[in-house]
Amino acid sequence: MFCTLCKGEMKKGRVNFPVDVEDNFILIKEVPALVCEQCGEYFLEDDVAGAIEEIVKKAKAADVEFEIRKFTARVNTPKIHPISRRGRRVLRDRFLDISG
Ligand SMILES: [Zn+2]
Repeated sequence: MFCTLCKGEMKKGRVNFPVDVEDNFILIKEVPALVCEQCGEYFLEDDVAGAIEEIVKKAKAADVEFEIRKFTARVNTPKIHPISRRGRRVLRDRFLDISG
């Protein structure tokens, strides 16, 4: 798979994924992702995005304002549904929907 931005090669790696929603900021460390070797753009797989959504839901339920945590969910990622930069905004909008 190649990067949609620069056509660089995507390799499996880990990224720090910041989630900034209203009053809550959560930095999730060591999130598995496909990372572009050239420009650093990364793509999250569907299961990973779902796991992040769960983490954010729980943090919001516990009224966590600021948290840094490791990504520990076990995810099966046989299929790849990459989330682009635009997709991450969509994901963020999904997080925003959780509030309330
Ligand atoms: Zn790239």
